[in-house]
Amino acid sequence: MTSALMSVYRQAEVAFDHGKGAYIFDVNGRQYLDFNAGIAVSSLGHAHPHLVKTLQDQAAKLWHTSNLYRIPHQDRLAERLVENTFAEKCFFVNSGVEAIECAIKTARKYFYDKGQPEKNRIITLEGAFHGRSMAAISAAGQEKLVTGFGPLLPGFDRVIPGDLEAMKMAITPETAAIMVEPVQGEGGVNPLSDAYMQGVRALCDEHGLLMICDEIQCGMGRTGKMFAFEWSGITPDIVAAAKGIGGGFPFGACLATAEAASGMTPGSHGTTYGGNPLAMAVGNAVLDELLKPGFLDHVIDIAAYLKAALDDFASRHHNVVEAVRGRGLMLGVKLRGLDPRETVAAALANGLLVAPAGDNVIRLLPPLIIERPQVDEAMVLLEKTLASLTQDVENDAG
Ligand SMILES: *Cc1c(COP(=O)(O)O)cnc(C)c1O
Repeated sequence: MTSALMSVYRQAEVAFDHGKGAYIFDVNGRQYLDFNAGIAVSSLGHAHPHLVKTLQDQAAKLWHTSNLYRIPHQDRLAERLVENTFAEKCFFVNSGVEAIECAIKTARKYFYDKGQPEKNRIITLEGAFHGRSMAAISAAGQEKLVTGFGPLLPGFDRVIPGDLEAMKMAITPETAAIMVEPVQGEGGVNPLSDAYMQGVRALCDEHGLLMICDEIQCGMGRTGKMFAFEWSGITPDIVAAAKGIGGGFPFGACLATAEAASGMTPGSHGTTYGGNPLAMAVGNAVLDELLKPGFLDHVIDIAAYLKAALDDFASRHHNVVEAVRGRGLMLGVKLRGLDPRETVAAALANGLLVAPAGDNVIRLLPPLIIERPQVDEAMVLLEKTLASLTQDVENDAG
């Protein structure tokens, strides 16, 4: 179909009209089970009553003032994030990639202000995804992200994930920080092991480096902890958050310890829209739900139920499923001999939304509020999807 849009997305021929909880309905009224949640964004499902009410009330009051004035919802959200996470300082932005930009700038400015401007390089991981700005694609360095967009920004060194010796070798007197996704999302739902996360923290301590976690996809309750790094019992210096933080309202945050944020002085950074009253009102409403007693326990419980179902699915279909991996409600099914994009399209045709990822993986990123019946339903739809894809193979086999 020809379109007036730039052709950067190969969009499926489906358009959605409305949603409710874990379900979404297309313009023809057909219902789908949403195990994509807009790529880990709609964590509380669609049309959550508390979010809808908050947005409607705020829309009638005040949308935008700029950061030249105090924004009470913003102060409150920052205070609550500080109270409930490692963070001591917050900066609000409009998207994930802006949170990454802020994280990178915060790390570089820290060493500049300490009189060590030569410490400005950041070590990142192969298979990483940090967004689409020039800095973010330069950081990730993946061929498919950078081709045609050079010259890239200097200052990034890449190592393979899981190899602490390689990480150690990459550290030089110019290294400022190490940046990792505790669970790589786009790269194929690869959780970094707790031992590796602890090793990265130890290397940062030993060499006086800042540890940056990109928690844009795996944070805000997605793995059953507020942030995925918590599973490893370590504390980073800087965290980029977005996606689930707004429950569908676009915003992000750069969180840091007071020490790491010490270079972010008046006038050094800014944003016109970031932290606006609409976004901050919704952000507080999302946090109201996330902080409810038992919310994260539910994520852990339902995630274990989904993981068990997927493991069972994998063992019954080991000819086409190589592995199930991930953490919490960020799960990947690594396929064998099936194309992830075709599999995602077949799932859509069967009424189930899932997302593709790198390394031949399909991603399951359901809203955190799903219950067992929805998991059971997803498994039925996955079985149907697989049957529709492997019909020919099985017919040939006899
Ligand atoms: C989605 C994502 C980003 C980029 O976020 P945008 O809001 O698209 O800019 C960065 N890092 C990770 C890990 C992500 O999943």
